[in-house]
Amino acid sequence: MDKVVLITGGSRGIGAATARLSAARGYGVCVNYLGNRDAAEGVVQEIMAAGGEAFAVQADVSLDADVTRLFERIDTRFGRLDALVNNAGMLESQMRVEQMDGGRLSRVFATNVTGSFLCCREAVRRMSTAHGGRGGAIVNLSSAASRLGSAGEYVDYAAAKAAIDTLTIGLAREVGGEGIRVNAVRPGLIHTDIHAIGGEPGRVQRLAESIPMKRGGDAGEVAATIVWLLSSEASYVNGAIVDVTGGR
Ligand code: NAP
Repeated sequence: MDKVVLITGGSRGIGAATARLSAARGYGVCVNYLGNRDAAEGVVQEIMAAGGEAFAVQADVSLDADVTRLFERIDTRFGRLDALVNNAGMLESQMRVEQMDGGRLSRVFATNVTGSFLCCREAVRRMSTAHGGRGGAIVNLSSAASRLGSAGEYVDYAAAKAAIDTLTIGLAREVGGEGIRVNAVRPGLIHTDIHAIGGEPGRVQRLAESIPMKRGGDAGEVAATIVWLLSSEASYVNGAIVDVTGGR
């Protein structure tokens, strides 16, 4: 184990692919999840079977106390933190803005925006050279939705992801001189469960023709970009927002 990474929402989809790839590159991995314990433990078992180190922690990233406990578990288990992937994200059923109630808006912004801020806070407290840390890297999961707007589907989610773009730019400037690089990845249409959660399991197939490469992306293709941004190969990349969209 060379370094330690926390991947929020590491039990499924892009987060699980990132957990497997970062373990293969030598990271000890904390696999955070919300409710799907079996899936998270499955990712951990795969990593251990391949000779890596990993453990799973349940925590709702939208809750301050859960995030504090999550990072304390990493302190206890690994005693260091070098990288954070703010991957946990969610959306709700497709609908127009005039149909959205306040409860939905609170939930969407709580997980996608507040959750990423809280995890950045804990990571900076541990990694910043201003706090005696060794530096590190953060990758935030935005979405192409932040520039496309997701009209008729989930403008709330798109706006939350626009906040992630701004968090990335601002935090990169805030802590760039303290040894921490902060970047974002903006996936396009990627084959994961998230589209079924929005009520349309076939969404990627429906929209594939609108993608210049004429296909949806694989979670592994996003993970490869995330792990590159974490690595020393991206040592001068800071405040960047990298589209992984097949050109859409
Ligand atoms: P996914 O398959 O739906 O998986 C979501 C993951 O986030 C799961 O591990 C889930 O845990 C976890 N999670 C959800 N809410 C959480 C919370 N409050 N606290 C902790 N963990 C939570 O999603 P995905 O498609 O891989 O998406 C990953 C990220 O990429 C998200 O930020 C998403 O917005 C972004 N993205 C995805 C696409 C796409 O096309 N797939 C496109 C653009 C951006 P459980 O398993 O325990 O439920």
